Amino acid sequence: MFIGDGMTTNMITGELSLYLDARTLLTRIAAARLIAHKSINGKYQSTMAMDKFPVLGHQMTHSLDSYITDSANSATALYTGHKSTVNALGVYADSSKSPADDPKIETIAEIFRRVWQGGVGIVSTAFIADATPAALTAHTRDRGRYGEVVDSFLNGITNYTWTNWTGPDVLFGGGAEQFYPNRASFQGKDYYAEFAKKGYNVVLNNTALQKTNTSTKTLGIFSVSNMAKWLDRNVYTKNLLAQKNSPDGSGGDAKDQPGLKEMTLKAIEILNKRHSKEGFFIMSEAASIDKQMHVLDYDRALGELLELDDTIKATLEYLKQIGQLQDTQIIVTADHGHGFDVMGSVDTKYLQAQKTDRKKRNAVGTYQESGLSQYTVADPRGNMSALVYTNGTHFPANWDPRYTLFSGLGADPDRRENYQVHQDGPRVPALNRTGLPVTDFYVNDKDSVGGFIVNGTLPVSADQGVHSLTDVPVFAQGPCQDLFGGVYGNVDVFFRMAQCLGLSRPGANGKHNNSSSRGWNG
Ligand SMILES: [Zn+2]
Repeated sequence: MFIGDGMTTNMITGELSLYLDARTLLTRIAAARLIAHKSINGKYQSTMAMDKFPVLGHQMTHSLDSYITDSANSATALYTGHKSTVNALGVYADSSKSPADDPKIETIAEIFRRVWQGGVGIVSTAFIADATPAALTAHTRDRGRYGEVVDSFLNGITNYTWTNWTGPDVLFGGGAEQFYPNRASFQGKDYYAEFAKKGYNVVLNNTALQKTNTSTKTLGIFSVSNMAKWLDRNVYTKNLLAQKNSPDGSGGDAKDQPGLKEMTLKAIEILNKRHSKEGFFIMSEAASIDKQMHVLDYDRALGELLELDDTIKATLEYLKQIGQLQDTQIIVTADHGHGFDVMGSVDTKYLQAQKTDRKKRNAVGTYQESGLSQYTVADPRGNMSALVYTNGTHFPANWDPRYTLFSGLGADPDRRENYQVHQDGPRVPALNRTGLPVTDFYVNDKDSVGGFIVNGTLPVSADQGVHSLTDVPVFAQGPCQDLFGGVYGNVDVFFRMAQCLGLSRPGANGKHNNSSSRGWNG
C-alpha cells in the first residue's frame, strides 16, 4: 500500500504534462534517448509507473464530523474501515479526559497479523510517529502523543495482548527524537534499546541499512524529525549540512539517509524473507508531498511525488525478480488533497526585471503563452542541443529553468511568489514579524525574493496552506485489482483490502477469527 500523503490527480497530472512536453521536445530533436525509447506516431512509450496501473478508482475523504480530513483521521479510515474525527488514530473519540481510553478499532496490520500471522512493514519519510504510519498500531484520539505511538509500534496496546502483536517486521523512517532517551521519548526510555531487547536489528543510516541481515526484524531510524527531501538529497545537497539531525541524538548531521525507494525495497526484501509463506502487508508513505505542499514548496513536493513513482517502478521490478509480482496486490493512493494545479508558465527572468508587483504579474503566461516545459533541458540557457532526458530515472534534469510552472491555488497565508525553486532548503512562506501579535503571520521577506506579493485567504494565524476536499486517486494492480475501480469512500479501501487478504475467513489456526465475535465493534 503506497500512500502519497496529500497527493492529488492534479499533482500527478502536473508531473505527467511535464514529461509529455519533454517527449514532444525529444521527438523534435531526435536526441539520443529517442533512439533508445520507441515513439510511434507521436505516442510515447514511457509514462509514470502509476499511470500504467490497470485500474483507477477515486476515494472520498470526508471524516465523521467534518468534510476536510487530517492524516490521522483519514489513515484510520483507510486502515480500519471506520470513519473517525480529526487527530484520532484507530479510535472513536470519546468525551472522557484521557486520550488513551477511547473505543479502539483494530487495524488492517493488526488483523492481518492475528488472522494469518503475516509480515507487517511500516515505512515513511516522515518522523515515524507521524499520523500515517502511527495509525497502523496506535489507538488514541490525540495524534500528538508521539512517545506512546512509538511504544505502540513495539508493544501494541495494553490489555489487548490477545492480538499477539509483537511489533512490525520492519519499521523505517525519521523521528529519532522519540527513540534516543530524552524528554520526547516515552517515559524517557531508550527505544533503540527497547527494540533491540525484542530482537530487532537497529540501523541508523543507509550504509547500515543496505548491509543489514534480512532475516531479522529491523528498526531503521535515519534522522531527527522528517527525513531529508529528494531535492535536497539529490540536487541541493548542501542543505543536508548544519541540520543537527543525526538519529543518534549527537547533534551531528544525518548525511547518509536512504530515500523512500531504498527503504521500501529493503523492507520488502526482509518481509519476503521472513514471511514467504504467510505473505506480508506493507505501507510505504511519501510523507513530504503533504509537508512540502503545506509550505507551498511545490518543487520539493513534486520531487517527493516523483520519488514515490520511482519507488513504485522499482518495487514492481523487484517483485517480478523474486517471482511475487503476480501474487501481490499493489495499491497507490493518498489520504487527502491540497489545493494545487498548474495553470501556465512563468518567465522568471522577466519577472525579476520588473519594478512593480502589477508589472511582475505579466510574467505569467497562460494558454498559448504557457509554452512547453523546460525542466528536462539540462542547459539552463535552453540550448536544445544540450537536452538531457534525466538518465532514464524520470526526474527533471534542470530544476531551475527560466520558464517555470505557474502553479499553486487558494487556501494560503500571505506570501511572495517568484515561481523559482527554493535552493536553500524547504520554504518558509510566512512569518510572525516583529511588532505583530504572535498569532499574526505575514510575508517572509527572505522568501521568493524579487517576486510579487499574493494576499492570503486563510486566517492570518495560518503560516501554511491546508488540506482540500478533492477526491484522491486509487491506482490498483494485482489479483484483486478489479475491487478498486469506481468511486467510493476512504473506508471502502479497507474493506477491499480486507476482502483481498481474506481477513474474514478462518485463520491459519483453523479458528474463525471474525472480528465482531472477538469483541471488536464491527
Ligand atoms: Zn497535511
